[in-house]
Amino acid sequence: RDNLKKRKIAVLGSRSVGKSSLVVQFTENHFVESYYPTIESAFRKTVGYNGTQYECEIIDTAGQDEYSLLSAKHAIGIHGYVLVYSVTSRKSFDMIQIVYDKIIDFCGVMDIPCVIVGSKMDLQQSRQVEASEGEQLAVANKAAWVETSAKNNLNVGNVFEMCLAEIEKHTPQPEPN
Ligand code: GDP
Repeated sequence: RDNLKKRKIAVLGSRSVGKSSLVVQFTENHFVESYYPTIESAFRKTVGYNGTQYECEIIDTAGQDEYSLLSAKHAIGIHGYVLVYSVTSRKSFDMIQIVYDKIIDFCGVMDIPCVIVGSKMDLQQSRQVEASEGEQLAVANKAAWVETSAKNNLNVGNVFEMCLAEIEKHTPQPEPN
């Protein structure tokens, strides 16, 4: 029982950047081709990481824009954040800092356990955001960063492992006796 930890992760970002595809690929191991806007759904998956079993509850949100208010359900009880932009959309990339700042402001903290994800890396011809830009944004916000393709199942598992690692970093460890 001590070896099972529950972690609640919220996935945020602009509409149609591939949040649902990422979460479905991670939890159900298939790619959803058809586009259906998410209302908001929760997914569960238990993963072993660093010798511990983590029961992850993943909240797939409807998507944010500059006008959406952060809801309490996206902050209270959330252990870690996955902020998704598409490498094919500059606008979705610009939204990351806005969403990040809203979370920080809402929670009243300096920083949060967070992974910034550049999705759809298989669409190289349509790329609008360079990898270096994503990396820089992550450094500036003390977040982790990775590019993924839910379509080709590239780095999908890594996203959630990195998020668990970020959560652990932010969790105070008990003092040794
Ligand atoms: P959400 O609104 O952020 O949840 O986005 P969806 O997961 O619904 O994806 C939006 C569209 O992008 C869908 O048509 C997906 O099939 C497509 N998509 C998502 N991930 C990828 C990817 O890694 N590669 C490609 N080529 N398309 C993707």
